[in-house]
Amino acid sequence: MPLDDGKGAKPFETWLADPDIEDMLAVPYPRTGIGRPPARNVDPGRARNAAFFTAMYGDCTKGEVTRTLVEIVWLPKKAGQRLKVTAINGVAARLEAVSRELDALPARFDAYLSPSAGTYNCRPIAGTAQRSAHGYGIAIDLALRHAHYWRWSKPTADGRLTYRNAVPLEIVRVFEKHGFIWGGAWYHYDTMHFEYRPELLGQER
Ligand SMILES: [Zn+2]
Repeated sequence: MPLDDGKGAKPFETWLADPDIEDMLAVPYPRTGIGRPPARNVDPGRARNAAFFTAMYGDCTKGEVTRTLVEIVWLPKKAGQRLKVTAINGVAARLEAVSRELDALPARFDAYLSPSAGTYNCRPIAGTAQRSAHGYGIAIDLALRHAHYWRWSKPTADGRLTYRNAVPLEIVRVFEKHGFIWGGAWYHYDTMHFEYRPELLGQER
């Protein structure tokens, strides 16, 4: 597949709506923990080239993703919730590995982890035409109770978002270790969201 669509440097909204593969990789992902809120419009991993992801994981509107889904048990000891994710690229096995590690964390982490707000869901991203990572079967949302999402917040008078997060970074580190990036690393934050994007984590290894 072409890395570059020849359209040159893109303003933020175009980068997000119509990224080529090069654009998708252009913003470095800060492995765990951002010590401070992300700078304006710094959303590493939030742009996804639809053709690339569809070629890899299938088109959920054509039923191509459901046949790749396998069930995993989320937190067998703490929750035992059944969730479906894709088996492609070993995503299901990797999420199971995440689940095993999180299951071993002390009880004070439980409220952030379960119930999971969901994995596979063939839908666009709220307020956009782009497919959500959930439509490829590569994403999981943690517990809604402690989630913060930029669309739920009110921008400041000068139009800036105020970053908020309650998810402990111990949880983020476990996901990143197994190839998942965190929506809490984005200026347009979605702190319960994780998705399998090892290509972005490789940059800092
Ligand atoms: Zn999500």
